[in-house]
Amino acid sequence: AVLDAVDLMRVTINRKELDVVVDAPDESLKVLAESDGIDRIVSNLVSNAIKYTPEGGRVTVSLRALKRQVRLDVVDSGIGISRRDQEQLFSEFFRSTNPAAVALPGTGLGLAIVKSIVERHDGRITCESTLGKGTTFSVLLPRA
Ligand code: ATP
Ligand code: MG
Repeated sequence: AVLDAVDLMRVTINRKELDVVVDAPDESLKVLAESDGIDRIVSNLVSNAIKYTPEGGRVTVSLRALKRQVRLDVVDSGIGISRRDQEQLFSEFFRSTNPAAVALPGTGLGLAIVKSIVERHDGRITCESTLGKGTTFSVLLPRA
């Protein structure tokens, strides 16, 4: 599923000469969530990372099995998100006023949808970001 999400963005990845690294274990990790939901989580986070990272940047997607949870980290070296914006990030239709982001099209729904899917499955999503440096989104979902 992670590789599918990356493949869908291949044209953009190539155009921006991004370095996209996927780090996932060989065994499949089963989580307590519908696969449609997981696909939407991964594709929204990966497409944001690619969209909000300037040319030549790096995006890393990693999957890890913890004892009772699976952890997904999507790390980018992109434009970053201010502290103020981080508070509203998951609200419907929220879009940053960061000049580096306003020109990029979007509806501001992606993260609101991701958060609702994660919470519906008793998971957690967090964001860590430094403006101008990059962003990490981490998702924890219970293992099946
Ligand atoms: P879409 O509905 O098409 O996903 P969107 O990307 O604008 O539109 P969200 O995915 O909900 O909407 O993201 C909300 C806002 O958060 C974005 O407009 C952008 O400003 C900011 N953002 C999200 N991901 C990142 C990221 N990885 N780096 C920097 N800013 C981000
Ligand atoms: Mg988005």
